[in-house]
Amino acid sequence: MSKGKLIVISGASGVGKGTVLGLMMQKRNDLFFSVSATTRDPRPGEVDGVHYFFISKECFEEMIANEEFLEYDAHAANYYGTLRGQAEAMQKKGHCLLDIEPKGAAQVRKAAPDATLIFIMPPSMEELERRLRGRGDTSEEQIAMRMERAAWEMEQRSWYDYVVVNDDAQACADEILNIISNLED
Ligand code: 5GP
Repeated sequence: MSKGKLIVISGASGVGKGTVLGLMMQKRNDLFFSVSATTRDPRPGEVDGVHYFFISKECFEEMIANEEFLEYDAHAANYYGTLRGQAEAMQKKGHCLLDIEPKGAAQVRKAAPDATLIFIMPPSMEELERRLRGRGDTSEEQIAMRMERAAWEMEQRSWYDYVVVNDDAQACADEILNIISNLED
C-alpha cells in the first residue's frame, strides 16, 4: 500500500505552528497530525489525545525502553516524543505532520531519510517574545527558558530542507502547502 509522506515542522514555541498546521489541515483533507506524548502538564484548553498524550515520566521512560518512539527528546524540563504507531497510522491515511523540535527532527531524518523538514521562523525575536507573553499561560522563568531555547533552535534552521517565515499565518500555511504539492509532482 502506498504511504504518505512524513513532514516535519519545527519552529520555536510561540511561533504559531499550531495555527499554521490547523490552517493547512482546513485546506487539505489528506494531512494528519501525529499526536505526540509528553510529560508536561496540559495548558488550559489542551485535550489529552488531541494536542498531546499527557503521560507520566515513568510511563514515558517505560515506552523509551520498549522502543515505542520514532524520536524523543527532553527539553524545557520535560520529555516529548513521536509515537511510532501514531506516525505510521497517519501515513496510512495520508501525509503525516510532525510538530517537533530540531533534535527530534534530526532523529527523524536519520530514521526516515525521505522525510521533509520545514522550519518556521518568527518575523523577529521581539515578535516571538511578544507572542509568548500574549499567550498569558507561561511564567517569566518559562519565557526566559523558551527564548534561550528559541535562539538555539533558530541556528538549526540551516540544515532543514525549507525555511518559511510566519508573518501572516495563512500566507505561511499556503507556502507550506505549496511545498507539499511540489513534493507530490
Ligand atoms: P510545547 O510545550 O510548547 O507544546 O512544545 C514545546 C516544543 O516541543 C515545541 O518546539 C514542539 O515542536 C516540541 N515537540 C512537541 N512534540 C514533540 C515530539 O514529539 N518530539 C520532539 N522532539 N519535540 C516535540
